Amino acid sequence: MSRVLIIGAGGVGQVVTHKCAQVPNIFTDICLASRRISKCNQIASQLKRPIETAEIDADNVAELVKLIQKFKPDVVINVALPYQDLHIMDACLETGVDYLDTANYEPPDEARFCYQWQWDYHRRFKERGIMALLGSGFDPGVTNVFCAWAQKNHFDQIHEIDIIDCNAGEHGQPFATNFNPEINIREVTAKGRYFENGHWMETEPLSVSKEFDFPEGIGARKIYLLYHEELESLVKHIKGLKRIRFWMTFSDNYLKHLEVLQNVGMTRIEPIIYNGHKIVPLQFLKALLPDPASLGPLTKGRTCIGCLIKGLKDNKEKTYYIYNICDHQKCYAEVRSQAVSYTTGVPAMIGAMLMVTKTWHGKGVFNMEEFDPQPFMEKLKIHGLPWTEVILKT
Ligand code: NDP
Repeated sequence: MSRVLIIGAGGVGQVVTHKCAQVPNIFTDICLASRRISKCNQIASQLKRPIETAEIDADNVAELVKLIQKFKPDVVINVALPYQDLHIMDACLETGVDYLDTANYEPPDEARFCYQWQWDYHRRFKERGIMALLGSGFDPGVTNVFCAWAQKNHFDQIHEIDIIDCNAGEHGQPFATNFNPEINIREVTAKGRYFENGHWMETEPLSVSKEFDFPEGIGARKIYLLYHEELESLVKHIKGLKRIRFWMTFSDNYLKHLEVLQNVGMTRIEPIIYNGHKIVPLQFLKALLPDPASLGPLTKGRTCIGCLIKGLKDNKEKTYYIYNICDHQKCYAEVRSQAVSYTTGVPAMIGAMLMVTKTWHGKGVFNMEEFDPQPFMEKLKIHGLPWTEVILKT
C-alpha cells in the first residue's frame, strides 16, 4: 500500500505512470502532475484504473510543497527535466518525503551536468530521515546496476567498463530526438570525457568513434564517445576501476543535421534578442522538432544498451558483456511509447517499488550501484526489461 506522486507528463512520465498503474498492490494511489494538466489527463485516459492529476510548476517549491502535503505521497518520482531536480528535492526535504529521479541536475544557463549539486543534499536528507535515489532510468540506472551485479557475481576486480548505448530504431523523421530535444542536444554537443588511470580525459565533441558488433542480429554500428553522468558515480563506487567510457550510436543522418544546426547557431543556449524578444535558440529549435512522445507509433526496430566489462576473477582475466534489447513496437503496444522512454520509465518504477517496500532503504542521497543489485535485476525480468549476460573471455 503506497502512494506515488509522478512529476512530468512527457515521454518518460507516460511510461512510469503506465508501469505504476500495472502494479496496484504496490502503488495503490497515483498522482501525475505536470506543467500542463491536459497532458496528465491524456495519459490518465489511457489507463484501466483511475489516477489523480494536477497542474504544477515544479520550479516553484512552495507550490510543490502544497501538492505534496495535499496528496501525501510515500515517494516522489521526478521525470520532469534535470532543471527541476533541486527544487523537487527541496520540496521533499520540507515535507519529509522520499525522492527519485532519472537524470542529474543541470543548470539551465550552463550545459554542464554533475552529481555534486545533488550529493550536497546527502547530510540534509540523512538528518531529515529520508532517501533520494538518483538516476533510476536506464543509463544512468540499469547500467549502474549492471556494474554492481558484475562486481557482486562475476569479478574480484573490475578494471575497465564500456557502457554502450545503441538505438537501432528508425522513426522515419528527417531529424528527431528520442528524449527531450533540449537535454539530448546539450548532452551530445558537449565535449566527450572519460576516466583513465586516475584522471579525467577530455575529447572534442563526437571526435572519437569505433565500430561495435551488437548482438542478436543488430550487427556492427559506429559508436561515439560521450560524457555521461553515471561515469562520475561509478568512478566513485567501483573500487579499482582503471578506465570507464560511455559510447552511443548515431545515424549519419542525425549527425549531418546536428552539424548544420550547430554551424548556424541553432543549438546555442545563450539567449539572443529577436524582434525585441529574448529567445534561446536551442529552446526555439525544441519547439520546432517532433515531440519525442509523438515518435511512439512511428518507431520500428530495437535498442540495445549494455556494459562491456573487463577485470579479474580468480586471478584470471575475464571479459563480460551484459545487455538488454528492447523492441520499439512492443513498447508501443504495451504503453504507447517508444523504447527510449520505456527503458527509462520501467527502471524508475522499479526503483520506486524497491523504495516503498523498503527493499532498498537508506537515509541520505544514493546512486543505484550503492544497493544490492539482486532485487532490481529480478524485477527487470518481470517488468519488461529482460537482460542477457555473456562471458566473452576468461
Ligand atoms: P519530456 O520533455 O518529454 O517530458 C518532460 C515533462 O516535464 C514534460 O511533460 C514537461 O511539460 C514537464 N515539465 C518541464 N518543466 C516542468 C516544470 N517546471 N514543471 C512541471 N513540469 C515540467 O522529457 P522526457 O520524458 O523525454 O524525459 C524526462 C526526463 O528523463 C529528463 O530529465 C531526461 O533527461 C530523463 N531521461 C533519462 C534517461 C535515462 O536513461 N536515465 C533517458 C531518457 C530521458 P511540458 O509537456 O509542458 O513541456
